Amino acid sequence: MNAEKKSYNSDFLIIGSGIAGLSFALKAANHFKEASVTIITKSEKSESNTKYAQGGIATVWNETVDSFEQHIEDTLVAGDGLCDEDVVKMVVEDAPARLRELMEWGAIFDKTSKGDFSLGREGGHSQDRILHHQDLTGAEIERALIAQVDKTENIQFLTHHFAIDLITEHQVKKRQTSVLEKITCYGAYVLDEKRNVVKTFAAKVTMLASGGNGQVYFTTTNPVVATGDGIAMAYRAMAEVSEVEFIQFHPTALYNPGEYPAFLISEAVRGAGAILRDYYGNRFMHKYDVREELASRDIVARAIDHELKISGMPNVYLDCTHLEYETFKNHFPNITEKCLTLGIDVRKDFIPVSPAAHYICGGVNVNKKGKTSIKNLYGAGEVTRTGLHGANRLASNSLLEGIVFAHRAFENLTQRFDKIKTPKNIPDWNDSGVVKNMEKILITHDRNEVKTIMSNYVGIVRSNERLLRAERKLHVLFEDNKRLYDHSELSVDLCELRNLITTAFLITRFSKARKENRGGFHNVDLIKKEL
Ligand SMILES: Cc1cc2nc3c(=O)[nH]c(=O)nc-3n(C[C@H](O)[C@H](O)[C@H](O)COP(=O)(O)OP(=O)(O)OC[C@H]3O[C@@H](n4cnc5c(N)ncnc54)[C@H](O)[C@@H]3O)c2cc1C
Repeated sequence: MNAEKKSYNSDFLIIGSGIAGLSFALKAANHFKEASVTIITKSEKSESNTKYAQGGIATVWNETVDSFEQHIEDTLVAGDGLCDEDVVKMVVEDAPARLRELMEWGAIFDKTSKGDFSLGREGGHSQDRILHHQDLTGAEIERALIAQVDKTENIQFLTHHFAIDLITEHQVKKRQTSVLEKITCYGAYVLDEKRNVVKTFAAKVTMLASGGNGQVYFTTTNPVVATGDGIAMAYRAMAEVSEVEFIQFHPTALYNPGEYPAFLISEAVRGAGAILRDYYGNRFMHKYDVREELASRDIVARAIDHELKISGMPNVYLDCTHLEYETFKNHFPNITEKCLTLGIDVRKDFIPVSPAAHYICGGVNVNKKGKTSIKNLYGAGEVTRTGLHGANRLASNSLLEGIVFAHRAFENLTQRFDKIKTPKNIPDWNDSGVVKNMEKILITHDRNEVKTIMSNYVGIVRSNERLLRAERKLHVLFEDNKRLYDHSELSVDLCELRNLITTAFLITRFSKARKENRGGFHNVDLIKKEL
């Protein structure tokens, strides 16, 4: 470690640069003009789940054919009885205003030749209500938000800065905290990867916007940054975490062995009329749900999983051959292009697909104001459990959740920011006694092992025996990793492994504790109880 400055102070510290972190940063910086806003992100500016979002953002835009009530109802049905109805109502009703803001920030959404927004349909939606930018909606949102952030003077945007742990009484007063006391967050310890130094970022307000954890599974649509760091950090700091057992598996990732992360074939493709066929070319969704291909994700993913188990084959197919090619290509240029690079011409070839881990519905508990159970720690986006998704997220509701909760957190802070004191006497990171890790290969092995355990035992369909096995194996990994972590010089790989193991543990433990099947959660040893 070198001897450069290690301690920094800002009014707002934002961990993550997806839709939730960036939109919160813009609001905070533009409203509190004198305040300092720091965004830290572990990779490049735009690298995030947001960047890969294809389908779009759900919102009731055309009230002559759609209504808030229908969007609310669709969300509640997908959530299978576990949504918080008040939260669903709040998010759905906030949506048009938040979308208008995104447009004011420069995000462009597709329009029809008549100049109206081109609204797409996805599984579980009873109306066309998905605003999109071709099949690259997330990349367009990141482009627009980053352009705004870059021209906002009081925002400092630091890339390759990895948040290791939140700072609470545990570090400041050097004592063990308890879940029963009121804990306060004072910022975070952050590894500056390029300079190899752990910095102290003290802050009045910390916003956790660090996204999801798809990387705990082998097959996932999530980029490599999605390692559950935020959930693990918050859990270690004793924040309340819940409903992490509800992992959403996307039914149709492109089956292309060796490609990680898996390329997504957006749900909007089924919304546009694509048909699922088994390995031998037969349709099968009618056996599982009257909505067939447009049933919600949990149902379609389980149906495919079942078909794969029966056939013993690695994939099913998505048939787009009957769709009008020019329209398809215009709406899905990225997917069309990707298929072509693999020799798949959607005019005559079926697209091979299989399910992949895609989204975590639970996470760090936040209330309607984006507040976690820890004082001055807010949360927004995929890292959180808000009550919007219940047991299964409705397609295209998550980008929306991110901007709505970033806004709600900001609104709450307009009431109380002035009363928050600047944290003082925050100790620097203590790295005495650590040595350089000469066996990095152990980290790679363990990372693969977490993924293997989770894919084999805590996948789409679980059982009591599988969950027990997962827990036992994760325990061994946890102990091995703790030894390595306590004695080694820190690296991003090592910290991510620690977080992957913690998140995997939480998913497994919460799965064991759940005593009924709901939405995306299915344990063959349980039945579904009516609420
Ligand atoms: C392929 C794909 C397609 C999708 N399509 C859609 C869609 O069409 N519509 C929809 O609504 N949703 C979609 N989703 C889900 C949606 O993209 C995400 O839920 C949403 O973008 C999450 O936003 P976020 O801001 O919470 O997190 P993210 O966008 O994931 O951002 C998290 C940020 O935190 C950073 N970070 C993480 N850990 C640390 C750390 N320790 N230190 C510093 N920085 C850290 C990351 O680098 C990243 O910048 C899709 C997801 C994927 C993967």
